[in-house]
Amino acid sequence: MEDIYYSSTRGSETKVSASEAILKGISEDGGLFIPNEIPKLKCTIEEISKLDYKETAYTVMSSFLTDFAEEELKNCIEKAYDAKFDTEEIAPIKKTDDAYFLELYHGPTLAFKDMALSILPHLLKTSARKHNIKDKIVILTATSGDTGKAALEGFADVEDTEIIVFFPEDGVSEVQRLQMVTQKGSNTHVVGIEGNFDDAQSGVKKIFTDKEFGDKLKENGYRFSSANSINIGRLVPQIVYYFYAYGSLCKKKEIECGEKVNFVVPTGNFGNILAAYFAKNMGLPVNKLICASNDNKVLFDFFKTGVYDRDREFVTTISPSMDILISSNLERLIYLVSGRTPKKVSQLMSELSVNGKYQITSEMSDKLQDFYGGYATEEETKRAISKMYNENDYLIDTHTAVAYSVYEKYKDEKNDSTKTVIASTASPYKFTNAVMEAVDDKYLNCNSFELMKKMSALMNSDIPAGIRGIEEREILHKNTCKKDEMKNIVEKFLNL
Ligand SMILES: *Cc1c(COP(=O)(O)O)cnc(C)c1O
Repeated sequence: MEDIYYSSTRGSETKVSASEAILKGISEDGGLFIPNEIPKLKCTIEEISKLDYKETAYTVMSSFLTDFAEEELKNCIEKAYDAKFDTEEIAPIKKTDDAYFLELYHGPTLAFKDMALSILPHLLKTSARKHNIKDKIVILTATSGDTGKAALEGFADVEDTEIIVFFPEDGVSEVQRLQMVTQKGSNTHVVGIEGNFDDAQSGVKKIFTDKEFGDKLKENGYRFSSANSINIGRLVPQIVYYFYAYGSLCKKKEIECGEKVNFVVPTGNFGNILAAYFAKNMGLPVNKLICASNDNKVLFDFFKTGVYDRDREFVTTISPSMDILISSNLERLIYLVSGRTPKKVSQLMSELSVNGKYQITSEMSDKLQDFYGGYATEEETKRAISKMYNENDYLIDTHTAVAYSVYEKYKDEKNDSTKTVIASTASPYKFTNAVMEAVDDKYLNCNSFELMKKMSALMNSDIPAGIRGIEEREILHKNTCKKDEMKNIVEKFLNL
């Protein structure tokens, strides 16, 4: 098997091994690590459809993480996809009238972030061991709501790590906030920032690439890594479930093996849908990748015009995990469609940071035919929840509803009858108020926790263990800071 190496999308680092890329999180030049080629799937689609989740994970991930020994990777996979998930299937599929919902929220924190963040700590520890690293690893994370909790859960009390999470104080749901601020673990730190997700993410990236600060950390026996989807160790595990979903549909004879399907992905930072694009390039039979945005529709505009323009009002929506104007992972797609030209990427990213926008060339736009961009307004999102509930007796969360709504528009517009899988990214329990209000006006202005019980009755299912009784847990994290104080608070936490 060929070794896969990683290089920065902006060119300064090349030939970095997978374990080094995972340890670093982001390249020194601010670029993201990307494999020197997208490997082809090692087996046939028929073969992969016979595998369970862990076997699929090994088959897919071992093609990317070529410097991990078989035993090392299998060990990480065993520890990640275990009873933390409330179903042995790990990622079950629900069939409705007109689509398949790939439920990626059966992990401990009830969002798809668990799919990668339950394995990332093990990948990181293994990588540190391989390189004989003695430094304590500090995981610095910006979250739009779900990554934070999933990372805290994954790294809590993991020896030789500290985890610091920044979340937008007014930009997450009540359940999301409580999940984070009640987190136990002596190495966990949670900070609400006065700003939005983009502020948190930019702040974190700035700390990462601050050379002087990096040196200071080193002197104190620390090094940074990232749990955000800028880390290749997040992206690679996310490719797995696209194969698994496809395999499940083959197994259930819902599709012919080899038949193309569409995937609809509710998108924020462009990590999840980029993983689907990687799966397609590995050989998964995919027709369209449908990129669904909420009112922060930068990506919709980008796919339509070739112009990425973040210079617009940031909108707070009922799908907060997608309230993002700077989709970091798009940089990897830009790199690929530029024909792997770091100079072009650097130029565009510098335009983005200076002018707030950039335009790709028409040759680059031509290479985006795999994608269809759509968006759903708040009203459309609520309508999608209520329609799905009324017609299928099935509750979907607000993010998944954005995807469902965009899918309906896509079908009308394109008359495409290709079977379609919707990435269902969070449990409706995480967004209780918005979901219940969409089902029926009588739930307007109710208490979140009362509604949780009502939702449980409606769905005829127990409140998931991760959030049962969350309103009674002790608040353990009360820190807040301004967006320009992030570095100071990191120094405080680490006693620098
Ligand atoms: C993070 C998140 C998204 C967006 O995923 P990206 O990889 O950032 O595009 C969508 N839905 C939910 C529930 C999320 O937590």
